[in-house]
Amino acid sequence: MIPLEEAQNRILATVPRLPAATVALGDALGLVTVEALAATEPIPPFANTGVDGYAVRAADTAGATPESPVRLRIVDELPAGKAPTVPVGPGEAIRIMTGAPVPDGADAIVMVEDTSVDDNGDGGIVAITRPARPGDHVRAAGGDLAVGDPAIPAGSVLGPAHLGVVASLGHPTVTVVRRPRVAVMSTGDELVPPGEPLAIGQIRDSNRPMLMALVAQAGCEPIDFGIGVDDEAVITERLEKAAASCDAMVTSGGVSMGDYDIVKKVLRQIAEMHWWQIAIRPAKPLAFGMINGVPIFGLPGNPVSSHVSFELFARPALLQMAGHARRFRPVTPAEAEHDMRRRVDGKLHLDRVTLRREGGSGGRLVAAAAGVQASNVLSAMALSDGLALLPDGEGVGAGESVDVLRLDLPADH
Ligand code: AMP
Ligand code: MG
Repeated sequence: MIPLEEAQNRILATVPRLPAATVALGDALGLVTVEALAATEPIPPFANTGVDGYAVRAADTAGATPESPVRLRIVDELPAGKAPTVPVGPGEAIRIMTGAPVPDGADAIVMVEDTSVDDNGDGGIVAITRPARPGDHVRAAGGDLAVGDPAIPAGSVLGPAHLGVVASLGHPTVTVVRRPRVAVMSTGDELVPPGEPLAIGQIRDSNRPMLMALVAQAGCEPIDFGIGVDDEAVITERLEKAAASCDAMVTSGGVSMGDYDIVKKVLRQIAEMHWWQIAIRPAKPLAFGMINGVPIFGLPGNPVSSHVSFELFARPALLQMAGHARRFRPVTPAEAEHDMRRRVDGKLHLDRVTLRREGGSGGRLVAAAAGVQASNVLSAMALSDGLALLPDGEGVGAGESVDVLRLDLPADH
């Protein structure tokens, strides 16, 4: 058996980062930038008002109070999107709405709230009730980003606000590490998709929808390669097709010691493989290798093992392929609600647990078993928020601290 970290490190030392691609903003959420983006135009592009009110010459408003307001003549009206046509002269004001360009002559904006409701524009006059200082409520051109300012560093994971910034810089596309296309295939003669009747001996294919979703959750594009029956020719053809059209492959089943473990037989012929026994439970066996430079993860068939194996090995590798620097989920300490006992077997145990906070938002985190800890009991996995990491030994007692791999959080800092 090899330790978990050794297997992870060997995988990460092997999988390549994918090349860059230019993608539309609508397809770029979660992808990683390959080059730093600087402002090529000022943002905002022109000085504009941050409030609804009146563009004025600040000097004109000196001494204004509610009791003795300064009265200015309104010479124009500027909604957002309209270019000014007349300047603000002495004793004049222009009615202006948030986002509209500040007209020539004006050096400040007076909020509507600082004008008299009795005399706030009807009849062409506005009564200002508070003096303005130069610059009041004016958003300067380039005040957010000036030309040449760094906007988004290389290696950024594009979130919603990044996409907004890229759009504000005028770019409809962005250059990122290509989103990995990941083939997902279940294998086994016993498998039937949901929606079809079960004959004796058959079970539902639960791994494929689960693994497709795990691939999507990792920011990759899952490609459905269906259920491969336990037939050498069928599996060979599917895997070769997947290797030719995808960036990575994830299969479930057929890689253990059984007589019908056809995936194993095929991979021995067409791939450069490692057959690892990893010192963990569940998900001890892992088949990892390359077919023509395309990584393949041969995950165990038992659904919990499949899920855990994907989390520990495939997910960090896919994130690395997509250019992420942060490839691992966080591990946080929690308090064990009850004894989490285990036997000594040389392995790290990963128990499915729920997490909850006791005593408000700053309170302590409590972990409790999420049901039966067996590698075929997927319902417990579905209920869990994380995997309690129990190093080889006796386990932990109630009230003691246990590290939990947070399946509910995307990345560590
Ligand atoms: P295998 O790794 O092919 O020996 O499968 C181990 C166990 O996982 C067997 O009980 C299989 O029936 C089950 N299994 C394999 N593939 C799937 C799947 N896609 N969905 C649900 N169970 C599966
Ligand atoms: Mg099988």
